[in-house]
Amino acid sequence: MSNARAYSAASAKSPLTAAQIKRRDLTDYDVQIEILFCGICHSDVHSVRDEWNRTVPTTYPIVPGHEIVGRVTKVGPSVKKFKPGDLAAVGCLVDSDGSCPHCKAGHEQFCSNMTLTFNSPDKHLGGVTYGGYSENIVVDERFVLRVPSNLDLAGTAPLLCAGITTYSPMRHWNVTKGKKVGVVGLGGLGHMGVKFAHALGAHVVVFTTSPGKKEDALRLGAQEVVVSRNAAEMRKHHDSFDFILDAVSAHHDINAYLDLLRPDGNITLVGAPAKHLEFSAFSLIMGRRSLSGSLIGGIAETQEMLDFCGAHNITADVEIIPIQKVNEAYERLLKSDVKYRFAINMESLKA
Ligand code: NAP
Ligand code: ZN
Repeated sequence: MSNARAYSAASAKSPLTAAQIKRRDLTDYDVQIEILFCGICHSDVHSVRDEWNRTVPTTYPIVPGHEIVGRVTKVGPSVKKFKPGDLAAVGCLVDSDGSCPHCKAGHEQFCSNMTLTFNSPDKHLGGVTYGGYSENIVVDERFVLRVPSNLDLAGTAPLLCAGITTYSPMRHWNVTKGKKVGVVGLGGLGHMGVKFAHALGAHVVVFTTSPGKKEDALRLGAQEVVVSRNAAEMRKHHDSFDFILDAVSAHHDINAYLDLLRPDGNITLVGAPAKHLEFSAFSLIMGRRSLSGSLIGGIAETQEMLDFCGAHNITADVEIIPIQKVNEAYERLLKSDVKYRFAINMESLKA
């Protein structure tokens, strides 16, 4: 075992502060990564504050962070894909059983024995797993991703969660040229959704509660922007969308969006507000519309997404911060005040 510098929270009401954690010795199949950048996902905030306690209660202390990019420092003797010095990335998953039908289908995110990067039982050290707000991490090579060499590293970190979480449902629901696609909530996930829908050739409409984000939405690839609090603007899009991605982090009314879908249209929730949402049966019945959800994506699809980003030169728009600003960043995230993802420069842990 080795010690690593990290930032952790001791309770739902505590700020994140400097801490020392243990990392395991490498198994034959493990890769040790020095973390260069870690994105701040809204899920980090939900977890640190135990907002999802009804479904995924938080075990303290918690070290969040699942948008990890870094450099390989050591590999176990059986590792084939990586060598010291390589760039590498880790997302929300660090293990799964590998033998269930979901794992065999490449959907490790549905495995009932999956291990999340943080706040999951740690099979090696006991306790729970610790995430990317840390100087290094040790991960089985099956869960370590390759980083295209042309991409900016800070902007690549958010691809590991915000990227795959928006790419996967767009591929599943066949977002292509000629489709009309809505993205609700221009945050970390939403802005990646806009970039992917645009790159896939769709006509993209952003729904935002922040009128000040209008110009950015157009720059990111949207053709139209609707301020969702304006009912008249919303009505103009009635019965017209093939697909809508809802990436809102807080409680909101989804019925307004169901009515914007055309027959057989789908709205997929990726945002995970703690409180239950309500929907009108009639909005679904009329036009055989569907409402679904989506959780990150499997490992092979995450690599496919990174390679797609490499080919299309897509990264997240990031504001780079030192780890010492993380609590302030959480407060700003809650006010939708980030353009459009915070990325922590892990070098700052040494300060
Ligand atoms: P974020 O950066 O905070 O973005 C959320 C956006 O939602 C905000 O920028 C804002 O956009 C909108 N919003 C916030 N409060 C709102 C309200 N009261 N009413 C309407 N809109 C509101 O968060 P994120 O990191 O993108 O994450 C979004 C959600 O996805 C979180 O719940 C997170 O836990 C979840 N998530 C799910 C998965 C998955 O696998 N399904 C993966 C990662 C994250 P505007 O300013 O444009 O309105
Ligand atoms: Zn996330």
